[in-house]
Amino acid sequence: MGNINIKDLSPVELEEFVSNLGEKPYRARQIGKWIFKKGINSFDDMTDLSKSFREVLKDSALIPSIKLIQEQISRDGTRKYLFELSDNNRIESVLIPESGRFTLCVSSQVGCALGCTFCLTGRVGRIRNLKSSEILDQFLLVNGRASRPVTNIVFMGMGEPLDNLDNTVRALKTLTHPDFIGFSPKKITVSTSGLVPKIKELGERISVNLSVSLNAPRDEVRDEIMPINRKYPIKELVEESKRFPFPNRKVLTFEYVLLSGVNDSDEDARELGELLKGVNCKVNLIPFNEASPLPYKPPSDTRVLQFQGILIGYGHNVRIRKNRGRDILGACGQLAAAYPVGQNLKNSRKNVDIEPLRHKGTNGEYENPGAK
Ligand code: SAH
Ligand code: SF4
Repeated sequence: MGNINIKDLSPVELEEFVSNLGEKPYRARQIGKWIFKKGINSFDDMTDLSKSFREVLKDSALIPSIKLIQEQISRDGTRKYLFELSDNNRIESVLIPESGRFTLCVSSQVGCALGCTFCLTGRVGRIRNLKSSEILDQFLLVNGRASRPVTNIVFMGMGEPLDNLDNTVRALKTLTHPDFIGFSPKKITVSTSGLVPKIKELGERISVNLSVSLNAPRDEVRDEIMPINRKYPIKELVEESKRFPFPNRKVLTFEYVLLSGVNDSDEDARELGELLKGVNCKVNLIPFNEASPLPYKPPSDTRVLQFQGILIGYGHNVRIRKNRGRDILGACGQLAAAYPVGQNLKNSRKNVDIEPLRHKGTNGEYENPGAK
């Protein structure tokens, strides 16, 4: 019995794999269709493959899946999913319904090594990278049970996707390949805290949207709240981000978490306005999502609007991100998958609605969401 998880292979790697088993490369696309478009997880059911090839596949590969163990529903309709991995580690994904969109936020690592001071995942620390299959399974399991197809995927869950670049790219290749999942690259966004050389490498390997978590207009502040800035300072980060090859008609997004008294003054807004002058980009302001024991407060609504107004005065396209799923710790920066992050965590977990699981399973055909 082989132990390769077939979902860990990118479409090209799967072609090589079937070639090594003595079959034509196009067999990879047939297998891809069964697994990713039809939700089949047994080689026996792949009826357009010869019986003997199915036996060979069964001896050399497996199609396991991560396990959904909890679904929580926020008062605003956002859903948070807790998954258990084969080594008992846990990760979370978040599904956010918006008018016309159904956005899935996936995790790329268990925990995160980068230690941003405002982020609960950073408090967990780095536990391990996710495999490509574990990234894809989040999509497959949520999309398979959602009331309508997922329309957008953002890599903004637990972890830093560019700190797990190979598996992130593998998952992206499978997500976007027309014969595999076929999701439009324009509807996928990778969010990074700014691993500058990896931004370049991502752009060389695949075309998707990029969102950069800037969070401060100058190094002095960014060094404090995002330690990665000491290695890759703001100027280098903005320059590299500007060069990123976007899908047609798509532009760079900068995320800016507003922390009261830290990076939310009029002067901060003006510096940010200056910094981004001439950069073709959008800015998303995210008022800080509280989660014990993180030591910050969100600014008042008026402060947020004032900050936005100043940036608009510089001609920038600025939105304020609605904080969805805060009551179930499902908003940006609140994902910890029940790992210990400090003594007070339990207190912030009140008012949580837990829906009994409704396992639809992954069998049965479902729509290919990104194809149109
Ligand atoms: N590691 C990647 C992606 C995951 S974090 C990154 O840092 O970009 C996704 C987003 O959540 C980032 O923009 C991050 O700045 C933001 N974020 C983290 N903690 C937050 C918090 N407590 N409140 C609001 N946004 C937060
Ligand atoms: Fe990691 Fe992103 Fe959280 Fe920073 S904000 S600790 S990079 S997940």
